[in-house]
Amino acid sequence: MRKKSPSLIALPSAAQLPAFRRRLLAWFHVRKRALPWRATRDAYRIWLSEIMLQQTRVAAVMPYYQRFLGLFPTVRALARAPENEVLEAWAGLGYYSRARNLRSAAREIVRSHAGRFPRSLEAALDLPGVGRYTAAAVLSIAYGSPLAVLDGNVARVLARLGAIRGDLRRPARWRQLETEAQRLLTPRTAGAWNQAMMELGATVCTPRTPTCRECPVERFCRARAMGLQDTLPARREKRAPEDVRLAAAVLLDAQRRTVLVKPENDPTDGLFSRMWQFPAVRSGKDAASALRQHLREAHGIEAARCLALPPARHAVTYRRVTLLPFLVPVDSLPADRHAATILPLEEVERWPTSSATRKIARAAMRGRVARV
Ligand code: SF4
Repeated sequence: MRKKSPSLIALPSAAQLPAFRRRLLAWFHVRKRALPWRATRDAYRIWLSEIMLQQTRVAAVMPYYQRFLGLFPTVRALARAPENEVLEAWAGLGYYSRARNLRSAAREIVRSHAGRFPRSLEAALDLPGVGRYTAAAVLSIAYGSPLAVLDGNVARVLARLGAIRGDLRRPARWRQLETEAQRLLTPRTAGAWNQAMMELGATVCTPRTPTCRECPVERFCRARAMGLQDTLPARREKRAPEDVRLAAAVLLDAQRRTVLVKPENDPTDGLFSRMWQFPAVRSGKDAASALRQHLREAHGIEAARCLALPPARHAVTYRRVTLLPFLVPVDSLPADRHAATILPLEEVERWPTSSATRKIARAAMRGRVARV
């Protein structure tokens, strides 16, 4: 029989709740950072900020946010934009599926919701790339819907307030945290409340060494009282790192043009973020042979010469990638206008590509090669 999760210790208690809420909201009112997405109730702008902030720091998001809105100021403008232009505006932020989903969702909003981010939770959850957290954040901040958010920051604050041990991401535990977050929420000021909880987690109750002396709710915190604030919540077990070798071909014709591809069945498992990439394949020890075979089978190219370029390191979540680029001189480049694009080698860096592709392009432009 599965072990039942122990129930949460409800902290603050029902009697303490009014004081707890008052203190946190007052602190947020005075101490909140002035962020551009906090100066608006426009659901599109709030949604965009929430998507950009996933896995990405505020400082990194700021310039992208402003530039993106300059290019696509409304949902309709984003829905009209070609995918390439959206990815170009996103290039460098990483996790490109976010940009693709954002554009697909914008099209859906124009098609089915008259260009306005939907007000109901169910309709919001139907949009590509919108999960429970994002829906609750947008609906509460833009429309005042009484929905509590639960992300890593909020979960950490709750875990410390209640001195909760164990892995917070276990489904039963996460559901309990959702219930607790909803209990604490101030329903009439749900947007401010959610932002206050997230702000506390981001600036005071930080993952390592929280600054409890500056915390507005210190007196309610069980972890602080027990001296456990630096050890809770428990660290998640990390996935073991995986080493991957990727052989990539910089095909080059006599005019110094190269080709980028977007394969339907990507032999690299998305290691180039499913953006335009050089023809590439996972390889074993003999990278040149693997690449020759891939070029022959996938692109109909006989690579008479593969000139090894300096390898480069790259990391994608738990995968440690060794990029093994090769310069492959060719008489003509494969021309499939749906799956391949031909461009001067020097322009690859300006194309919407992942940072791994840009590393390979730079290695090719430096061009110190060895014959294989
Ligand atoms: Fe976090 Fe410390 Fe505040 Fe507790 S007292 S909520 S551990 S910052």
